[in-house]
Amino acid sequence: MSETVCRLTAHRRADSVKKRYQAFIDGGDSSAISGEYFETRDPATGAVLAEIARCCAEDVERAVRAAGAAARGWAHTKPVERGRTLAAIAARIRAEADLLSEAETLDTGQPLAQSRSDVETAARYFEYYAGGADKLHGETIPLGADYLSYTREEPFGVVGFVLPWNAPINQGARGLAPALAVGNTAVVKPAEDTPLTTLELARIASECGLPAGVLNVVPGYGREVGTPIVTHPAVRKVAFTGSVATGREIMRLAADRTLPLTLELGGKSPNIVFADADLDAAARSAFAAFTFKCGQVCSAGSRLLVESSVHDELVERLVARAGQVRIGPGIEDPDVGSLATAAQYDKVRSYLEIGPAEGARVAVGGGIPADERLAGGFFVEPTVLVDVDNGMRVAREEIFGPVLSVIRFDGDDEAVRIANDTDYGLVAGVWTSDLGRAHRVAAEIEAGQVFVNEYFAGGVETPFGGFKSSGFGREKGFEALKHYTQSKTVTVRI
Ligand code: NAD
Repeated sequence: MSETVCRLTAHRRADSVKKRYQAFIDGGDSSAISGEYFETRDPATGAVLAEIARCCAEDVERAVRAAGAAARGWAHTKPVERGRTLAAIAARIRAEADLLSEAETLDTGQPLAQSRSDVETAARYFEYYAGGADKLHGETIPLGADYLSYTREEPFGVVGFVLPWNAPINQGARGLAPALAVGNTAVVKPAEDTPLTTLELARIASECGLPAGVLNVVPGYGREVGTPIVTHPAVRKVAFTGSVATGREIMRLAADRTLPLTLELGGKSPNIVFADADLDAAARSAFAAFTFKCGQVCSAGSRLLVESSVHDELVERLVARAGQVRIGPGIEDPDVGSLATAAQYDKVRSYLEIGPAEGARVAVGGGIPADERLAGGFFVEPTVLVDVDNGMRVAREEIFGPVLSVIRFDGDDEAVRIANDTDYGLVAGVWTSDLGRAHRVAAEIEAGQVFVNEYFAGGVETPFGGFKSSGFGREKGFEALKHYTQSKTVTVRI
């Protein structure tokens, strides 16, 4: 690592990251009952960023008790007032965007611009659902003149959140804002690798007037904190975002007590380029689709399906783009930062061997950057694998790194067949200048979102979630409000 990077990292850490973080329970900082701490590190350098309270089941118990005690008061707060508190949180997130973005970049390794975008998205979630708090209403049901029948959308009470490490503040705000808007209280477990901004968000919410106990953050490890949240009898719903394997484990635990779940899991999403597409735009977008957050995005476009007649031309453009890319510590705001964790670094590098061993050819990348100053961090070159068959592991398994598998096809039917030949079903991209084909293919794709002529098109307003092994339930959009409420029907004999 160069001196400049060292100085820059030290300077930023002093500005935006405290040395030690506690849990946030019942409106304030609270040390873990164990008295122990774990470290979170900067993946660009390996340096320790901060110590975090290592919580366990007893801390979850305290947090759930606080959330339970606050539940009735928050549910009975006028929806417009809940909305105003959420709007204040949105404004405060924007006011603290510098601090939050720097902390997010140091914790995840992603470029500063991507953290700024995530922080703005977090503000948007609170802003959007602030407006939704007083707009979710029930229905009246016509039973004739002798009855009045209506539905009420009621909060669950205490909702548990178990979050991943790839987009901490974004994913936290995505679930919390709608859940709080409709009157739930929350106990949140951030991922052990990236807890900083979730803890800062709890502080911000409290300073904006969110009552004590409404939002509690309990940092720690999966089995020490995540499992106790899922199994706690007073937690009435769990929203989990993470891997399929953990999602299934949580589902098994939830089955024992009929616990409702939202599961947002992984993806191996197809990005389909037809020969009539704008190839410049498709190449630019396809490159971003597998390198954004160093490929650590559930909705990454990690399988590029290209019509044979434009295959070589498109691959050439991707290779050219890869040659220009700046890789570096996120805090320097490069094009591509580091992977977020040591485990992810090992996993991604293993796929760089698996692909060629299976018969794929490396068109560009395939290793770690030669730049010596990056040697201490978890950096991997953006890698384009061609001659990939959809049966290969690099086409079937979620790598969660900047590795693209390019697969040829001929014609609409084959494109759809390959696109759907996967256990996952989170999102898909379609590139064509034929609008009829765009809609026909979009209808055939088994995925929760389809982007046409712009990968990642959409925003906090567009419902998001999986088909097949990518999960169930929906986040984002007005629809998410319904996933954080349960409907009650009241029928009166008049
Ligand atoms: P992970 O499943 O390993 O961990 C997610 C969270 O679950 C962490 O907080 C972890 O501590 C916790 N956990 C682990 N074991 C647990 C257990 N037994 N009981 C309860 N909690 C437990 O996932 P990850 O590696 O942190 O995240 C990457 C995965 O998340 C990828 O598969 C990615 O596609 C997925 N993801 C999905 C979305 C989406 O919206 N669909 C968004 C982001 C990430």
